[in-house]
Amino acid sequence: MSGGKGVKRNGISRRGFLKSGGATLAGGAIGIGAAGTAVASSESSPPAIARLLRKATLPAASGARVVVVGGGWSGLTLAKYLKRFNPDFDVVLIDRQSAFVSFPVSNAWLADQVDLDFLSHSFFDAANNHGYRFMAATVLGFDRDSRRVFTEQGYVDYDYLVLAPGIEYDYPRIGVDDPEAQELLFHRYPGGFVTSSELLTIKRKIHRFRGGTFVLTVPSGDYRCAAAPYERACMVAAVFRRRRVRAKILLLDMNSDIVIKREGFARAFDELYGDSIEYLPSSEISALDVDARRIETDFDEYEFDDAIIYPPVRASRLIEEAGIHNPEDPQKAPDTDPFRYHLRNDEHVYVAGDSRAQPFSKGGHTAHSEAQYVAEVIAAHARGREIAWRSPQTMCFSAVDIEPLRAMSIITYYKYDSTTGLFAFDRTHLIDRWDTQGGQASLAWAEGMYRDLFYG
Ligand SMILES: Cc1cc2nc3c(=O)[nH]c(=O)nc-3n(C[C@H](O)[C@H](O)[C@H](O)COP(=O)(O)OP(=O)(O)OC[C@H]3O[C@@H](n4cnc5c(N)ncnc54)[C@H](O)[C@@H]3O)c2cc1C
Repeated sequence: MSGGKGVKRNGISRRGFLKSGGATLAGGAIGIGAAGTAVASSESSPPAIARLLRKATLPAASGARVVVVGGGWSGLTLAKYLKRFNPDFDVVLIDRQSAFVSFPVSNAWLADQVDLDFLSHSFFDAANNHGYRFMAATVLGFDRDSRRVFTEQGYVDYDYLVLAPGIEYDYPRIGVDDPEAQELLFHRYPGGFVTSSELLTIKRKIHRFRGGTFVLTVPSGDYRCAAAPYERACMVAAVFRRRRVRAKILLLDMNSDIVIKREGFARAFDELYGDSIEYLPSSEISALDVDARRIETDFDEYEFDDAIIYPPVRASRLIEEAGIHNPEDPQKAPDTDPFRYHLRNDEHVYVAGDSRAQPFSKGGHTAHSEAQYVAEVIAAHARGREIAWRSPQTMCFSAVDIEPLRAMSIITYYKYDSTTGLFAFDRTHLIDRWDTQGGQASLAWAEGMYRDLFYG
């Protein structure tokens, strides 16, 4: 593993951190204009920079400290189960957001089938109920030599570090390279797959849309929640139908066919939304003009009145910036042991959830079942033991209609094929006939998950 100038092995040296951290902050994280390159020590630093070099205000660790970065489905589960498998661990969960808003079931929320309270939960409740600490902060980087995580509120030392920071959009893969154009595209036509503000913007859009052409895209590659873009097209169409808006929904799929629950979605597009959804497979996006509201694919060009642009995704930049990614992987996933989840050369740093390298479905349920296993792996490691590998479980409900809510589902496991060296699906149970029982089951599933993550 090599690093850039001032970067040690896979981590960031104190000097390198100051340089890169200073540059990042000058770019706006907390809005200070000082050039990071000029900073040599905390004594000569502006106060805000000096703060980065101080220990974060946390009680002293009561046992081996496990720092979990990211309080999504993976990180919340990890924090809870690390304490369960080893009550002596001092677990600190760090997230840059101050509250949790669920992506699963958010498509039903877009169509008013649940309210925001159903999706929103407090990190404080999770931490209080499960006996770990929560810190609202942004992780800027980490140094594996000193086992230190840097945040804008100071650093935290770790014995084990678990990275569960999720995904980011990869706009260059749809021909949008310029950072300004990327920002414009993200803010005007958010994909709704990374932050909760995107969801609020999308809800407002579809409830105010006055008619015309509305574009939704499905990315290629290993993107987050394979079924969700198709489900979202159905929910948008259902809202337009209820509002009696004359709209053409163009569903531009970068894949050659519907990638999951194919029969069920094809039937929904045909039977429920034949007059509004036009499904266009193999629509590889080659260019996008935000101001002109024009999208180009390899075959055609489309003008739109409004859009939800979901580009391909990549692992969190935190992983690439630390130099722990696999340079061969277009999604910049980490270079980890596929069964134990730790970096190949460091058994004190783990990566789980949608940032993982393994090709398991990027789903909340997958992240939840996987995180229980990873927590057990870490607890065993601390005791000098190992546990047998077990597959994560994927369970995914997809709503296709409202009033009443109707949904379908899939459950699957994974197996490792030692001859090919690849993971494949195992024991799959698909119900692609959507009905009201599926709709109710989807809400019951989500309630059960929130209970486990925050209250149980
Ligand atoms: C619309 C939609 C519908 C979905 N439906 C389903 C479904 O029905 N079933 C299902 O199983 N899954 C579903 N999913 C997928 C599911 O939401 C994800 O797979 C799941 O959230 C992945 O969990 P994660 O913890 O890896 O990532 P996330 O949940 O994204 O969590 C990552 C966390 O890390 C934090 N973070 C990132 N970087 C930093 C940093 N530098 N410092 C501090 N914090 C940081 C973020 O704030 C975030 O809270 C859906 C997703 C979407 C968008």
